[in-house]
Amino acid sequence: MSGVNRRQWLKRIGAAGVATAAGAGSSAEGRQAGAPQQRERLALEDFQPKSMLHVPETEVKRSRFPLIDVHTHLTHGARGKNGVTLGEEIKVVASPEELLPVMDRKNIRMMVNLTGNYGKGLEEAIERFQRPHPDRFMVFTEPAYGRSNRSDYPQWQADEIGHAHQAGAKGLKVVKTLGLYLREQVTSGQLVKIDDPRFDPMWEACAAFKMPVAIHISDPEAFFLPIDRFNERIEELNNHPDWSFYDRDFPSNKELLEARNRMFARHPKTVFIALHVGNNAENLASVSECLDRFPNMHVELAARIGELGRQPRTARKFFEKYQDRIMFGTDASPSGSQTPQQVLSAKLYEIYYRFLETEDEYFDYAPAPTPPQGRWQIYGLGLPESILRKVYYENAERVLGIAA
Ligand SMILES: [Zn+2]
Repeated sequence: MSGVNRRQWLKRIGAAGVATAAGAGSSAEGRQAGAPQQRERLALEDFQPKSMLHVPETEVKRSRFPLIDVHTHLTHGARGKNGVTLGEEIKVVASPEELLPVMDRKNIRMMVNLTGNYGKGLEEAIERFQRPHPDRFMVFTEPAYGRSNRSDYPQWQADEIGHAHQAGAKGLKVVKTLGLYLREQVTSGQLVKIDDPRFDPMWEACAAFKMPVAIHISDPEAFFLPIDRFNERIEELNNHPDWSFYDRDFPSNKELLEARNRMFARHPKTVFIALHVGNNAENLASVSECLDRFPNMHVELAARIGELGRQPRTARKFFEKYQDRIMFGTDASPSGSQTPQQVLSAKLYEIYYRFLETEDEYFDYAPAPTPPQGRWQIYGLGLPESILRKVYYENAERVLGIAA
């Protein structure tokens, strides 16, 4: 049918208005000038479909048990360059007075502020949160990356863990700086490997002071792949191009995790909390292998219920098998709106509760009009009370040395 004939035919049957981008627009004839009122192609970012599924929707306003959120960011290093925090100074992004009412409403017994930095900054973070409210806030220290190229660094950093412990820090946080940003001359040169021996005394000091290490290594698999039409997180990477570790001199996801595992194996007395479900939530079989291999390894859930909830049967088995090794975490921070899966809010916690406690189907994993970490919905795990207790607080109490 020629373009003209088709238009006449559509006019005759009164159907010109139904021609859409997917119909007329996709054929050569529809793209000719004067094609019937063509609807414009909808950009992917504007697509916000409403689910027509009629299934139970459970509101869970409070968690079944008072919980410990082992992964929050209430302070962080104030200065940095090329992804590396420099100096002791911190930025405080919330006050206990703002947080405590939300915590009480949502049944959050304690928040662990992982990014307390070191030195004077650490002391300030402890003074603001942990000292006045020791049963509500806990603060971790961080390595002084800015000194990592000095020859005396290995022992200096180990000693600094001792100072942090004395100041009141309850653990050490290692962000993905190690492996992906930190370089031989701190912000330039070759990337420093996760199992670089200069950090060995630091890992050992953490074991000596019984300070668990919360460690973020690598990122979602899709962040290491080309940003193209096959990338399941293309919208997220378009929103945050700096989160892509494809190409340049970055190691692969596999190389990063292998370096982490070599380090875990070398420090069996150090307790590790491998954040974000061991940074491999897309591959629970692999996380399981690591948990089987390293009795000193634990995981937490932060910003990965999107991954866990799209594989609810596999995830449920994972929770059953490793119920003594999984902790509750969110990665929540009160600042910014660029990452809705992490903005500290009542709504955010309610989604976690719904995911863990109910068998609801096909719901949003983040409070956002568009799923921010990939275009899919999640399914609740409906965990039994015995597992919920462990995940919400019992495992954290044991690992962090908190009195019941
Ligand atoms: Zn985090």
